[in-house]
Amino acid sequence: MDVQTFVILMSGMVGLMVGSFSNVCVYRIPRGESVAFPGSHCPNCNHDIAWYDNIPLFSWLILQGKCRHCQLAISARYPFLEVLMGLSWAFLAWKFGPSPMLLEAIVLVSLLWILSLIDYETGYLPDVLTLPGVFIGVAFAWWVGDIQSSLWGAVVGYGAFWLVAKLFFLVTKKEGMGAGDFKLLAMLGAFMGWQALPFIVFVSSLVGAVVGFAYLKLSKQGRDTEIPFGPYLAMAGMLWFLWGHEILSSYRSLLFP
Ligand SMILES: [Zn+2]
Repeated sequence: MDVQTFVILMSGMVGLMVGSFSNVCVYRIPRGESVAFPGSHCPNCNHDIAWYDNIPLFSWLILQGKCRHCQLAISARYPFLEVLMGLSWAFLAWKFGPSPMLLEAIVLVSLLWILSLIDYETGYLPDVLTLPGVFIGVAFAWWVGDIQSSLWGAVVGYGAFWLVAKLFFLVTKKEGMGAGDFKLLAMLGAFMGWQALPFIVFVSSLVGAVVGFAYLKLSKQGRDTEIPFGPYLAMAGMLWFLWGHEILSSYRSLLFP
């Protein structure tokens, strides 16, 4: 096995384990619980979960998705997030190789998956993740990127959505976006610089509008149903982080052949 394959495999394994911890974060952070104590326990029967029932992916498969003690179904989100993290980490290791960029990519993508799932399940983006996210983004820019465009990215990211939300409220008297969305865009701006913002805002709004419209049609829900916007911001942010350069150059070749 060569070094690169080894790094990819190791990264995938660690990603699986971090995915397991991420599930704890997704469950506990919105409930205001500590992510460190107490150890894992079943939310239904409160029984402690033994280490052998807590192995990423495998335990869920062996237990056939049920608690060993009370048989309550364990959400498929558990193995889903574990596999998602494992594959993401392996993919990032393949794309970036051992480098500071890999570290930045892993931190950003993991944070974005956790935030997306929390927003999807609870409809809000907790400050305890987005605000440190802004500082971590600035710190990475200071280390390997462009600190100035990172700081502008954070400020403009927050301000742009704040302004849109205020205007939307003036016109419709309804809250369209939550403050969590402002902070998530500030975090994305901090990681990628202000240059990323037009793409992220455009793509997330477009995809969010299409999916949201389809969802309202299919589920026959009223137009006041709130659809979390965080996952779309996160997806658009990842696209830009991974393929921003390619996207920019294909724009240019389309516009100026
Ligand atoms: Zn149980």
